[in-house]
Amino acid sequence: MSNEKNNRLDTLRHSCAHLLAAAILEMFPEAKLGVGPAVDNGFYYDFDLPRTLIPEDLPLIEEKMKALIKQDLPFEKEEVELNKAKELLEKAGQDYKLELVKDLPADEITFYKTGNFVDLCKGPHIKSTKELENAGWKLTKIAGAYWRGSEENKMLQRIYGACFQTKDELKQYEEMMIEAEKRDHRKLGKELDLFVFSDLVGPGLPLYTPKGTIIKDELQKKVEKICRQYGFQKVSCPSLAKIDLFKISGHADKFGDELFRVSSQGGLNFVLKPVQCPHQTQIYASKMRSYKDLPIRYMESDKQYRAEKTGEVGGLSRVFAITVEDGHSFCRIDQVKEEVMNMVKIIKDFYSEIGMWGNHKVSLSVRDYDHPEKYIGTKEDWDHAERMLEEISNEMELGAIKHEGEAALYGPKLDFMFKDAMGRDVQIPTVQLDFATPKRFELTYTDENNESISPVMVHRAILGSYERFIALLIEHFAGAFPFWLSPTQITIIPVAEVHNEYAKKVAKELAAFRVEIDSRNESLGKRIREAEIKKTPYTIVLGDKEENDQTITIRTRGTKELVTQKISELIEILDEKTC
Ligand SMILES: [Zn+2]
Ligand SMILES: [Zn+2]
Repeated sequence: MSNEKNNRLDTLRHSCAHLLAAAILEMFPEAKLGVGPAVDNGFYYDFDLPRTLIPEDLPLIEEKMKALIKQDLPFEKEEVELNKAKELLEKAGQDYKLELVKDLPADEITFYKTGNFVDLCKGPHIKSTKELENAGWKLTKIAGAYWRGSEENKMLQRIYGACFQTKDELKQYEEMMIEAEKRDHRKLGKELDLFVFSDLVGPGLPLYTPKGTIIKDELQKKVEKICRQYGFQKVSCPSLAKIDLFKISGHADKFGDELFRVSSQGGLNFVLKPVQCPHQTQIYASKMRSYKDLPIRYMESDKQYRAEKTGEVGGLSRVFAITVEDGHSFCRIDQVKEEVMNMVKIIKDFYSEIGMWGNHKVSLSVRDYDHPEKYIGTKEDWDHAERMLEEISNEMELGAIKHEGEAALYGPKLDFMFKDAMGRDVQIPTVQLDFATPKRFELTYTDENNESISPVMVHRAILGSYERFIALLIEHFAGAFPFWLSPTQITIIPVAEVHNEYAKKVAKELAAFRVEIDSRNESLGKRIREAEIKKTPYTIVLGDKEENDQTITIRTRGTKELVTQKISELIEILDEKTC
């Protein structure tokens, strides 16, 4: 979407929020208003109300909003002087707005009036409420939200709305939401028995079941197999470290309260690692390195820990223990280009396997040129690094779009954005140049002239956190994983008890795959249906005919068709799907 179109849509959405506030004030004249911004897919407005809202309130509020739209009311701007603004808000009892106005520059205070409704707001808005007549909008939910996002403040009631240019777009969005609910990884994770939570273990700490562990391990094997082809070696580091490690890396500052601190009675004090890079620098630092040794590439799939405040209950999207697939290359400046190109190839290989490559965008995240003080490192290093990433984008035809101010603290990066099956943007893989960390840890190598030089560190994430990635995959595939990722690849169903022995024989021949025999005393139809619900790629049914002919009857996921063939024929097909 173009920026201009985006801005127009945001204006429409935010204007709709004004009408929501106006409607609320009609219902509750004593309501105090918080903020009401445009957000993805719509808007919200926060209110301090005399009673708790119930879902039945939403249609009533919508009716009031519709009436305001019909009246074709203009949005009238009025610039107000600070003291006057305070006076107006005080008189109206709008304590929250009063708090906001105190933070505003005195010459930038504007009120917007729509009918009887007046709101402190900087705009912009649509010209008249009538512009919302053909738009598609709807109030969607009620939630709680702390004033200014701080737990120390009062909890307000937030009403969310969806808002689009047209009614058709709203309809599409609603259909997408229904689909998203069906695919919700929390729901499917339970149905497919992939992960669980325990009150005794604690919130935000998912436990992978045997089936979920298979998915995690298969992903890890896939990433590591690809990375090994590009010279990555696996390392393994402990979860703890002295805080000094993260003081040097800058992460102690960056994560502050989000660090978990661990101490023993014997006086040992550690923190749980919030990232993996600093540990890995110490493997590099353990030896003298020569220019001939570089590049040195390490990869690791391990847990890192962050005490994030907001926890999404029962889901994998926000957890305290995050399993991260992380990797770094320590290299010479003349090797950076090839290293980055290799990492892009790894990302391409991996996402091709998942079936997402091709439907992606790449962003070249560079400095905010007006504020060089926000970054670590010299101007020369930055110029060089940004130029290099641009060259790579051109040579590899990535079509990276430059985004100023999006670089990491220590260097520019290439970010990859994919679309999932529901059209949602997913930004995971990234390749980042880092000149600063090696200097902070005084990492060196000796060059041809025996001089001590700092290597460059290239960070890369392929799938990022396993938890987030598995949540994404569950929703992307709606639980119907590709064959190589499916926890159970084949379910064998003997028609009757007499076929159990033959079922075992077939399972043995298919031992290279993950096979389950369902010989429960349930009807054939029920067992087939359950295999379908579990989204097993192949279901094999074995009866008299199959046993006599030494064949198998196969049903492929998503089809009703049954095919009878020799076991060897199936193995041939499956071998191709696993490699
Ligand atoms: Zn406004
Ligand atoms: Zn890193």
